[in-house]
Amino acid sequence: MSEIRVRFAPSPTGSLHLGGARTALFNWLFARNLGGNYVLRIEDTDRERSTAESEDQLIRSLRWLGLDWDEGPDCPGEHGPYRQSERMEIYRERAEDLLARGLAYRCFCSDEHLTAEREKAKVEKRDPVYDGRCAGIDPEEANRRAETEPHTLRFRMPQKDITIRDLVRGEVTFPAGMVGDFILLRKDGMPVYNFACAVDDGLMEISHVLRGEDHLSNSLRQVALYEAMNLPLPEFAHLSMILGEDRSKLSKRHGAVSVEAFREAGYPAEALLNALALLGWNPGDDRERMSLEEITEAFDIARVHKAAAVFDRDKLDWISGSWIRERSGEELQELARPHLPEEGERLPKILDVLKDRIHCFGDLPAEMESFRGDLPTPDEEAREWLKGAGDFLAALADALENREVDFKSLLKEVGKESGRKGKELFMPTRVALTGQTHGPDLGATAELLGRELVIERLRKARSHG
Ligand code: GLU
Repeated sequence: MSEIRVRFAPSPTGSLHLGGARTALFNWLFARNLGGNYVLRIEDTDRERSTAESEDQLIRSLRWLGLDWDEGPDCPGEHGPYRQSERMEIYRERAEDLLARGLAYRCFCSDEHLTAEREKAKVEKRDPVYDGRCAGIDPEEANRRAETEPHTLRFRMPQKDITIRDLVRGEVTFPAGMVGDFILLRKDGMPVYNFACAVDDGLMEISHVLRGEDHLSNSLRQVALYEAMNLPLPEFAHLSMILGEDRSKLSKRHGAVSVEAFREAGYPAEALLNALALLGWNPGDDRERMSLEEITEAFDIARVHKAAAVFDRDKLDWISGSWIRERSGEELQELARPHLPEEGERLPKILDVLKDRIHCFGDLPAEMESFRGDLPTPDEEAREWLKGAGDFLAALADALENREVDFKSLLKEVGKESGRKGKELFMPTRVALTGQTHGPDLGATAELLGRELVIERLRKARSHG
């Protein structure tokens, strides 16, 4: 097999969304699994919508996810430049070559005419196809007119069926005439996406193009362009759409969809990648919670399926929660710090106590609330445990006030004196301290609360019993 080269080619016109991140991930996994090269190419030919801030943000998001690239704007390889706005000369040369060989022609149609044609197609409920009005203009006359008249450059789309072999969908055939002659260069000389993309994928020797299925009909145009430019065809894999839980296309309506938003909410990058990997792929067994290394090892494009994938937030929460639980407070502190900046050196301990209760680090401040100030009122079931425990809780509070012994030893001692052990001992104490019947280790909980608050809560609990 020739060298594996894949690319992620975002347009810097907004933040990186889950769909883009999944495409980036699958390309990365494909390259890393097969020992290929992963290229980052910035598609910024839409000068109005592309911004430097958006490019920075895209790169930040990709870096945060840990999807490193081998060639890109910041680490050029032999196939640069890697920003399309820096490749204008290349597109111009290719366009002139197509024009010289009669595979493209100048189009002088006005915007009004083209808009009217599009409207007509809409009314007639068919896809708009260029009517070919300028296709027959004599090239010499066209060159003359071009000196004074604004014009675009159009590709002569071959009128034949075109079949692409898709690694996810098998063979996909597009009938002749589905797509008309399309624009390569706009009036201002800027290349359109399909042209720039085909030129770049060809010249960058991309072996596999993995992208969303919304690009299927672009692949048809691009395959025709590769053939016209005598560039070797890559293989294609079109990834299914990502849907929200209501089965409509995932969008802002479904809540946070940008990678940045998940970072800010305190999801670990690896957990997000784990959830994204399962959108349209599975390892062939029932594993769901996997490390990036395991996913990379197991990744196989043959296991990517074409059914639409539903982004399930509960699953992300479960994956992320397990990721967090698998690590110690010590290991988690760096990721958690921005969410509880005021906790200083106590943070690892806090995490050890709270990590079972959170899905992401953004849950920490709310969880911490129960370790400050007033105790939330225990529910009915919890209150049952306080019945008849008042004297015992008061004795425990007194003992804590008067003696410098650690909480657990004191608890046992006072338990003995009051004739309580097992659940009879732990449950009233837990409910008194946290208002809940389940929770982290009691000793650690008491330590977090601090002696004063423990005493206060033990005394107050009497009134609930
Ligand atoms: N710039 C295109 C986009 O962001 C890239 C599509 C492709 O991968 O070819 O949709």
